[in-house]
Amino acid sequence: MTRRQPRSRRRPGGLATAALALALAAGCTETVTPGRSVDAGDAAVADAGPPDAGPASVVEAHALGLVAIRGGESDALTLDLPGDVVALQVVMVDATDAALLVVTTLEGPDGQRLVDPEAAVDPDLLLGPFPAAAASPNPAVALASGVGGLLAPNSPAVALTPGPWRLRLGAVDALSEAPFDGDVDVTAFVRRGAPLARARLPIHVYCTGAAGLTAATAPDDAALQASLQRAADLLAQAEISLEIMGFSDAVGPASLPAEGGVDSALHALFRQHDAPGTVGVFLVGRLVAPFGTDVAGVAGGLPGPPILAGTTRSGVALSVDIGLSPAATGQVLAHELGHALGLFHTVEPGGLPDPLPDTPDDPDDTTNLMAPRVAEGPQVLTPQQGAVLRAGAALDSP
Ligand SMILES: [Zn+2]
Repeated sequence: MTRRQPRSRRRPGGLATAALALALAAGCTETVTPGRSVDAGDAAVADAGPPDAGPASVVEAHALGLVAIRGGESDALTLDLPGDVVALQVVMVDATDAALLVVTTLEGPDGQRLVDPEAAVDPDLLLGPFPAAAASPNPAVALASGVGGLLAPNSPAVALTPGPWRLRLGAVDALSEAPFDGDVDVTAFVRRGAPLARARLPIHVYCTGAAGLTAATAPDDAALQASLQRAADLLAQAEISLEIMGFSDAVGPASLPAEGGVDSALHALFRQHDAPGTVGVFLVGRLVAPFGTDVAGVAGGLPGPPILAGTTRSGVALSVDIGLSPAATGQVLAHELGHALGLFHTVEPGGLPDPLPDTPDDPDDTTNLMAPRVAEGPQVLTPQQGAVLRAGAALDSP
């Protein structure tokens, strides 16, 4: 773990200004907001790294603008992925905060379906409102209302190829699960060049006064620093260095529901994220489940919105006043960051195992950081989990 003054990210050389065609397919061009093309000034993020770091890995952000969802699904969009594509991250933001959002189709130039609306679904598994997406070769889930995301590839069994990819978005009302009608703001982040062998993850820590922590006291608070160090040590297993870019105060209640939703305290908290280019880490007193049990941490998404500040899911929230040791709190932080960067539980509570062959498939095996429940003891990240983590748009070269 390192702490450093925020620095402006280096602007890319030729790579990020190279044209990447992102066009909506014929038939739905009216859903594009004119003038939403991205310029390098506000969205392209790149870091070529030091000269000895090997081939550059660059993330380009492309605003697709508002995409119409009618009757619960969008028309097909087409993304032309470049020859050196490494990974694709899609972020969907619903301004009404009411919709559960998911990518329901991701189909490549050769007809390969990474997210397959016709994927076989085991009826014994509880897979949520989009079971085929969750059971797809590159699983996609709608975790919480307001913001949805997809990271591809999130499994070694699939890969992106250059050329036109077809994409559809699905949405239901989070409360009723009725098909949603609305316009969703979509951004596609394309990592190109080379996969990151090592990466840095910039975070910004927000204090609400819980456990006496403020932006002024947090940098020197021994317990918090021990938690951050524990999280950094866990992520270091995946060649990721956690970098704390700064501390800020945020406004939030001492205890709040762990569930998000329209007008929820959790979303009001996440919306205070104001440090673009970082993942927000919000320290609250207690997150509480509907039946009153304490929740140690919550991730804003799976994956969450990288880089984008101020959405209702911009970060992770952590309970710091429920009696956990600093080490356990750090473990929870690393686990929630894992979700925010695109990792599933090794086995989801509904019974679906993650798509990674090198993680345990036994829900009672708690040796992995992404085990479905927190346990004391060693917590590992596997090589395949590391590859997923480093593919996401929130990370850059060390
Ligand atoms: Zn979890």
